[in-house]
Amino acid sequence: MTADDSKAGARILPSRVPIDPDIEGADVVGDAREAFADREKPVFVLLSDSDPVTRSARGDPLSVFPTADEQPETWIQGGGHFLQEDRGEAVADWIVDFVDRTEATDSRTGRAAVPTYKASRAEYPNMHSAERVTLARLPSGVEVTTTVHTYGGDGPTVYLQAAQHGREVNGTEVLRRVHDRLVDADLAGRVVAVPVANPLTFDRVSYTTPEELDSAHSNMNRVWPGDPAGTLHERMAAGLWAYAVDADAAVDLHTGSPDMHTHVVFMDGDEDARALAEAFDTDLLLAEPAGDDASAEWNRRNFAGKFRVAATRESVPTITPELAHNKQIVEPAVEAGVSGVLNVLRHLGVLPDEPASGGDRTVARNHLGRVDAADAGLFRPHPGRRLGERVTAGTPLGTLYDPGTYEVLQEATADDDGILYALTREGTVVGGDKLANVAIPK
Ligand SMILES: [Zn+2]
Repeated sequence: MTADDSKAGARILPSRVPIDPDIEGADVVGDAREAFADREKPVFVLLSDSDPVTRSARGDPLSVFPTADEQPETWIQGGGHFLQEDRGEAVADWIVDFVDRTEATDSRTGRAAVPTYKASRAEYPNMHSAERVTLARLPSGVEVTTTVHTYGGDGPTVYLQAAQHGREVNGTEVLRRVHDRLVDADLAGRVVAVPVANPLTFDRVSYTTPEELDSAHSNMNRVWPGDPAGTLHERMAAGLWAYAVDADAAVDLHTGSPDMHTHVVFMDGDEDARALAEAFDTDLLLAEPAGDDASAEWNRRNFAGKFRVAATRESVPTITPELAHNKQIVEPAVEAGVSGVLNVLRHLGVLPDEPASGGDRTVARNHLGRVDAADAGLFRPHPGRRLGERVTAGTPLGTLYDPGTYEVLQEATADDDGILYALTREGTVVGGDKLANVAIPK
């Protein structure tokens, strides 16, 4: 037998595919199409980007199964015609995800409890999917949903989120620009990104939600890891926690205010989190003690429920970049965030190359050198102060006075040597309001 004889079966096979109604077997395929057209059960179509046969025919399976367009449009990267052999583990992961998100069905409607939506596949040539996830239900029945992006495949998983505090919009803009970098990149790992972690505060351009929606926990960043049967914020957090808890590292993007110097916070004593903070590469890093190492105030203010603290405790090293500014997209804040996130991905090996370093860094302790207003009045920050400068104990920070009599109520000064990283510009203050923060170098 010659080599050609042994390939006779393989050679004839393509011509037997009933692509034309006249080819034998076409009627059977037609019957199958009709049967599938009435199918209401969820169908997930997975295609491989390098299959020369089906790559260009993706519209066909999507048109056959009526529910297929409810699932994220997904390309398995680097898989040929024999996708199961080439990328078996990735296929298995996507199938497990599919089962997880479709098994919960609404008993009244019979539809999936977690609806998904259709992203434009043409926009995303690599293995990227955008999934619409329901986080909670409002009293009216309106669902609180958000979009979860997933990029890449095998390797470490990095979870990124922004806008837990919805007015902190620069984090969202950071993730949009990071998306542009990831969507065509060859990733040695998986990135999960949530650009609007809290749609409720985002829509209100606020920091917290109104009491009517969650009287127990108005601040989402105090309830992690959340509770699927809890208050509104606890449910929303639990929905996102499912994506975060399996990650190998996480970045929770925040942006303080125009009065704050850009910095990154990590849990004091967690070396992996400290390495992430160093890779993010702002000039100020703040180590925050947690739990028994922290102050009574830290515990009283439920700081253990911060995303970063809960995730780091679950062995997901996590950092909180505070990019400064809110409500406005401010270019230096966004640039610091983009370069920081890309540096973290390089540090973890998800992106090639070494993290770029800007040079000098100071590591300091969080929540120590806080200066509070001694009384109510009008506060004028000292015009000579600038954020990020080194101050010493006694450095003047500003003057608090009675706006009616002009009587000086307080000459605020630094209590310690350190770096001035916050100085309020909100003139009207009451006793106990924070006027300034000085980071005390370790
Ligand atoms: Zn925040």
